[in-house]
This record gives sequence, C-alpha cells and structure tokens, in this order.
Amino acid sequence: MPKVHPLFFGGIKLEQELKKVYEAQKLDTQIFEKEKRLISAPKMIAAMEQEIETLKNNISKEKEVIDELEKERRKKEKELETDKDKIKKYESKLCEVKTNKEYQALLKEIETVKSTNDNIEEDILILMEKIEELKSDFTNLSAQLKKKEKEFDQNRDKLLKEVDTIDKDVKKLKEERDNLLSDVNSNLRTTYTTLIEKRGGTAVVNLKNGVCLGCFMNIPPQLFIEATKNIQLILCPSCNRIFFFQEDPE
Ligand SMILES: [Zn+2]
Repeated sequence: MPKVHPLFFGGIKLEQELKKVYEAQKLDTQIFEKEKRLISAPKMIAAMEQEIETLKNNISKEKEVIDELEKERRKKEKELETDKDKIKKYESKLCEVKTNKEYQALLKEIETVKSTNDNIEEDILILMEKIEELKSDFTNLSAQLKKKEKEFDQNRDKLLKEVDTIDKDVKKLKEERDNLLSDVNSNLRTTYTTLIEKRGGTAVVNLKNGVCLGCFMNIPPQLFIEATKNIQLILCPSCNRIFFFQEDPE
C-alpha cells in the first residue's frame, strides 16, 4: 500500500516544504559527521595518553629490573672479593702447615674456592651482558617516550583547535537548519526530527530506479512514480523515511 501522509495534500506549498526538509537533511548530515568527530577527539586524546602511560610503565619496570641486576652483580663482586681474601689466607697458611696431609687438604680447599670463584666470575659476566642489553633497551624506550610525548602535545593542540572550529561550525549549521525547519509545517517538522533521531541521522532520502536510497529496498512502481513528483509527503514503506526525489543530487 502506498504510504501517503493523510495530513498533506499535494501542491506547491508542500513541494517547497519538502525541498526545505531536504536542505535541512543536507545540513543534518554535515552536523552528524562533525559531531562524530567531536565525540572521537577526546577518545583519540585518551588513547594517546594511554599509550604514553604504558610506555612509561614499561620504562620504569625495565629500570627496576636493571637495579635488581646491578644489586645482584654487586653482591657477586663482594663474594668474589671475600673468596679472594680467603685464598690469600689459605696460601699464607701453606707454609705454616706441618704435615703433607694438612698441606694437601689446604690445597684442595684453595682449589674449591678457586673453582667457586670461576663460577661467580662467569655469573658476573652474564649479569653484565644482561644489564648492558637492558640499558640499551631502556635508552631506546626513553627516546621513544620523548618522541611520543612531543607528538602527543602537537596532536592534542591540533585536535583541540579542530574541536573548537567544529563546535562553531555545528552551532552555525544548527542555526541554519532550525531556520529552515521553522518555515515547515509542524507535522512535517515533527516527522522529520523524529526520523533524524530514530534513523541514524537520515530522515530524507532520494530514490532511484525504483529503489529507496535510504534502505535500498524496492518501492512499488506506482508509489515510485508518485514520489518522484515531490508534491506529496510519501514515506518509504520499508524504512519510513521521507522521500525527496532528485534526478542529479549534488
Ligand atoms: Zn527506505
């Protein structure tokens, strides 16, 4: 069944009013896009802040690991020092011992400490290599952070300026739209504003080759012909949007 709004009769006045809601739709589409941008800007800023926060956390964790390994290294070096003193002490005892058995035992003791020291030295080398690696990582991450912070400052300033401009644009567009709609019959205006809210910001749609360009469903042929005349308020049978036919829409 063709959906013809009972409150309207065809005629010049309605054609002009339909043209006005069509123009209002063009403004609302722009407003819709701009408002999307307004919503996304703070999200983009928050995402950049989060990225920097994560990087800072990684850097501070890396620093903790480095400090921990340095502590371990110092501990091992101290152990090494103590053991070296021990060896010296044993060596000085070598000339004091009286029996061969004692002498052999002392030599064995020295060997054991020396072999422990070899292990400690190896551990220290491994620790130093690891520390070196982490420090180089730390330097890279710190440079990355500095770069990101600089980028963030620039991007945020740019975004905030953009938001300010968009905000002003939206205000102007809304004024223009309200002016247009203030001339429109209140029923048509209500239909229009309700649809804008319920249909994702699109209330007025064009049609082409028997298809609604709002929902892309086929329109009954007779209704399509009527709709292309733009002299009645005709809503799409599928999506309920207002038809306004434009042969070559800008
Ligand atoms: Zn439709």
